Amino acid sequence: VKFRAGNYNVCHEFCRDDTDLLGVVVREYASLSHLDKQYFGFPGEILMRMLKLVILPLIISSMITGVAALDSEVSGKIGLRAVIYYFSTTIIAVILGIILVMTIKPGVSQTADHIDRAGTTPNVTTVDTLLDLVRNMFPENLVQACFQQVRGFAHPSFIMFPFLHMLKKITLFFLSWQNITKDYQIVGTYSDGINVLGLIVFCVAFGLVIGKMGEKGRILLEFFDALNEATMKLVQIIMCYMPVGILFLIAAKIIEVEDWEIFKKMGLYMVTVLSGLAIHATICLPLIFFVIVRKNPYTFALGMAQALVTALMISSSSATLPITFRCAEENNRIDKRITRFVLPVGATINMDGTALYEAVAAIFIAQLNDFTLDVGQIVTISITATVASIGAAGVPNAGLVTMVIVLTAVGLPASDVTLIVAVDWLLDRFRTMINVLGDAYGAGIVQKLSKRELERMDLTSDVDVANP
Ligand code: ASP
Repeated sequence: VKFRAGNYNVCHEFCRDDTDLLGVVVREYASLSHLDKQYFGFPGEILMRMLKLVILPLIISSMITGVAALDSEVSGKIGLRAVIYYFSTTIIAVILGIILVMTIKPGVSQTADHIDRAGTTPNVTTVDTLLDLVRNMFPENLVQACFQQVRGFAHPSFIMFPFLHMLKKITLFFLSWQNITKDYQIVGTYSDGINVLGLIVFCVAFGLVIGKMGEKGRILLEFFDALNEATMKLVQIIMCYMPVGILFLIAAKIIEVEDWEIFKKMGLYMVTVLSGLAIHATICLPLIFFVIVRKNPYTFALGMAQALVTALMISSSSATLPITFRCAEENNRIDKRITRFVLPVGATINMDGTALYEAVAAIFIAQLNDFTLDVGQIVTISITATVASIGAAGVPNAGLVTMVIVLTAVGLPASDVTLIVAVDWLLDRFRTMINVLGDAYGAGIVQKLSKRELERMDLTSDVDVANP
């Protein structure tokens, strides 16, 4: 009965409680083969596929209509405000993480040898990845950009926004200073096959052009607006299936985890990351939101509940994007001209949770290795953790891959990333949730700061395509 469409909150509650139960019971009483486990996770896999399916039309239609509905001056201002917000909250998250990990010192009591090193090390070429980043921004072929595998770790932000370009230079300086341009190779399967980067750049340019084309442009704008509305209707349908999908997704994960003991070994490290994320989500971000928007930040966060639960379950900001849109627009009444522009970019570059996690993890690994970090190295960690979070794609475990950049920047062995792999699937869920929450608060703040421009536009335009 609780799975009835239209009763999403009840569904999510129900699902969250019973998810554990289903996984635990099956784990306890059935011995499943590898193949059985795969079958068991099938309904969850279908949910992920459905969410990923709508990302492409959603990003294209929302970015184009979002940019075209604003004039270039307004979109520039909105973009700048969004980036200032992204950048400052990410830095706050990193500083918070550093303070916590230096205070709690989760790695000091143990040594790296006590924690098993698992799997193989991802290899990353710093210079190559930066070049790939720029390459990815300019896809040769638009159709190919919708399904190609993207190499590289970062996003168009470096060219779209001048101060991030500066940040890249500083990072490159630090990276070369630390002499880390060794022969690494990026692990390249974490972009869900969509070159989001290239598409965002194209859509911004395309949106700006059709916004200036007059009557002809209006036809295209109406087309993309209709596409956006249709996609959001599809999202509504997917949401009916979400409780079932999420139930099996989590249950399958519980069955699959082989070593629960690792959580005891890594307990303090996990507590450090989780408390940092909790403080950032319940104090830092709400405070910034309240100071600027003057509205109750917790009511706002409650409005985002479905998106947050989804992020927690599927560990992907990109795949959560459809739900983030719905919550922001319908529950928190954020102007579509803002959400369409700010949310897709946020899901790609604004990752407070990932930045905090990367800073904590790097210092934790240093503590495990009895490696004393000087002030310069801590500053390097803050900068590289920020850049690595901007560079991480909004897909599961992307932060773990870009983590290699932070480690190598301070001279820690890149292979030590394997020390934290075993618990990453769990931490990833929580940091993704904070990433999504940060994007949502960002949209609320940018809307408040852009109120005057939006009102002026409402007065001058006769038809409001973005908010029909
Ligand atoms: N899974 C995260 C996200 O999608 C990225 C990461 O930190 O791995 O936002």
